[in-house]
Amino acid sequence: MIYVLFKITHLTTGRFVFLESATGCWYRIDDESFERVYSDPVWCGTCRRFRNGERLESVEEVEKKLAERRDPLWRPPFEKAFPETKSEVREELVRNCEQRLEWRRRRVAPAKCLKCGSSEIIRLPLDEAVPHPGGKGRILVHIESAGGISPRGQTLYTPEGDLIGWEDDL
Ligand SMILES: [Zn+2]
Repeated sequence: MIYVLFKITHLTTGRFVFLESATGCWYRIDDESFERVYSDPVWCGTCRRFRNGERLESVEEVEKKLAERRDPLWRPPFEKAFPETKSEVREELVRNCEQRLEWRRRRVAPAKCLKCGSSEIIRLPLDEAVPHPGGKGRILVHIESAGGISPRGQTLYTPEGDLIGWEDDL
């Protein structure tokens, strides 16, 4: 799993804070199906802090991805690594995408703060100075480092993005 450390710098004062990207976060669709939570650094107006906030793809984006995967000419990016399981992998990737589309079409609530569940969030661009959404001066979000880690557990959310709880194993 890719892990990213965001450095958020207050350009006026030079002070900075770090924000770890959200890892191991899942929507629990039912007992056996889960969808990955995608997130971005945000300013949460309720927490009054920099947090990870949901990134909801549009229905059209997921539809497009599904159409690509159904195309017989489409090849998964890691196909070379698993040549012997090609057809199974392809079928599974299509099924995963169908499930994601189903979830995305049903999702009603806007994107939320992964910490407190508020939808009062403002997404922050990378490497672009913007006014501090909750303060003075300007801030800059930059990826300080990235790497792979095993998540220490799984954080589960409802399909509408509300926190259910944490599990320390699968
Ligand atoms: Zn919050």
